[in-house]
Amino acid sequence: MNAAEIRRKFLDYFERNGHAVVGSSPLIPKDDPTLLFTNAGMVQFKRLFLGQERRDYSRATTSQKCLRVGGKHNDLENVGRTARHHTFFEMLGNFSFGDYFKEDAIRYCWEFLTEELKLPKDRLYITIYNDDDEAGELWQTVAGVPAERIYRLGEKDNFWSMGDTGPCGPCSEVHFDQGEHVGCGPECGIGKCDCDRYLEIWNLVFMQYDQAEDGTRTPLPRPSIDTGMGLERIAAVCQGVASNYETDLFQSIISYTADLAGVKYRENEEIDTALQVVADHSRAIAFLIPDQVLPSNEGRGYILRRLIRRACRFGKLMGLTDSFLWKTASRVVDDMGDHFAELRESRDFMIEVVRGEEEGFAKTLDKGLEMLEAELGELKASKAGQVPGETAFKLYDTYGFPIDIVRDVAERHGIGVDETGFDALMKEQKSRSKAAWKGSGDKDVATVFHTLLEQGVTSEFTGYEAMADQSEIT
Ligand code: ATP
Ligand code: MG
Ligand code: MG
Ligand code: MG
Repeated sequence: MNAAEIRRKFLDYFERNGHAVVGSSPLIPKDDPTLLFTNAGMVQFKRLFLGQERRDYSRATTSQKCLRVGGKHNDLENVGRTARHHTFFEMLGNFSFGDYFKEDAIRYCWEFLTEELKLPKDRLYITIYNDDDEAGELWQTVAGVPAERIYRLGEKDNFWSMGDTGPCGPCSEVHFDQGEHVGCGPECGIGKCDCDRYLEIWNLVFMQYDQAEDGTRTPLPRPSIDTGMGLERIAAVCQGVASNYETDLFQSIISYTADLAGVKYRENEEIDTALQVVADHSRAIAFLIPDQVLPSNEGRGYILRRLIRRACRFGKLMGLTDSFLWKTASRVVDDMGDHFAELRESRDFMIEVVRGEEEGFAKTLDKGLEMLEAELGELKASKAGQVPGETAFKLYDTYGFPIDIVRDVAERHGIGVDETGFDALMKEQKSRSKAAWKGSGDKDVATVFHTLLEQGVTSEFTGYEAMADQSEIT
């Protein structure tokens, strides 16, 4: 079953069970300055959970575009390291706004996995929140899961919140045993390690509280349900592969990129990581730009810029010298444009932005890498510990190197980076440039104008609102 079929099956199943099929919301949350990007399916329904808004449905189902870079849920560093984490991914979800609660959420979940997808029951494991006896009971009575396959875990794994504030609650998760060969050794087990063997596939959140800034939790007007299952992970399970990158969602772009670079997948670990990172970041980039994020030096725009530059560096690692990212991102449009029409609509604009950005960075990438490699050579020879903060800052300031690249390259040599020192210098620079702009009038306009000049974008630019938002979060 390919990923598009799984997505269809999921939405159809919940529609048959009385859920309204709602489209994905954009990657930039609307009117929510607490969040950098949409990081879960529930984000577009936040006001419904809080009882601040009513709609003509009390059950919904979606396949939501998500991005987990920056903020509470940040998976950037996991990309290429685990087989299950991406920056951009799709989250399948079903939601109840004060309608059904734990029992039906568990029933639907189990029925979908074991009857619709026909997953073997004996490879499914459940986790519940510490003292949630009710959920523990229900998994046994409603789904028939034996008690020994139900694990109790703490706040870190089984209490879900979107960010530091907002709707949250205890949760219960389904894990799929991918087999011993995927495990990390004798200590491998649910709640004991973080390897990919017991793959977390689906999270059922029992939405019960609204968390305030000081951490206090007040009960929501009506207990609700919010669930999320990663499409890429469930596709891996259904397709019988141990890594999301082996699914149809990634294989098309990975083989396209490998052809461009003249390399082969699954022959060399370092090349595989590079192919995975480029595939992951190409997807994120291809989705961010149509949602009105443009490369800039702060907020959301800087995250996009970092993704583009990081992808360029990994491209270089596999021998891609000419600009390539606009091609791989365009390939994402070919693969995903049927379901996400916005990708096709903004393809030309997206290509222009990515191409401009990567060509600009190509001018300094080589020089910066030379400087960094020389520095690393010296550090190694003198057995000194870390890349100094000043070096990392110079690479940023002169060569446009985001800190991730410095970290990635240094790590290949087994050397760390003084990030505290780097952060301090960044802070200094920010306050200097803020002071320089003092008295220049509207700060937001200044920021936007500055960014536009830097990008060389003039009359065609339509993302003013998005840019203005970005200046709130730095
Ligand atoms: P993990 O523990 O593996 O990092 P999580 O507990 O952070 O996952 P949730 O916040 O519970 O994930 O999100 C719900 C579901 O979304 C997960 O069960 C998983 O299927 C999917 N998911 C979460 N993060 C990612 C990611 N970075 N890439 C792909 N899928 C993800
Ligand atoms: Mg996580
Ligand atoms: Mg988890
Ligand atoms: Mg989880």
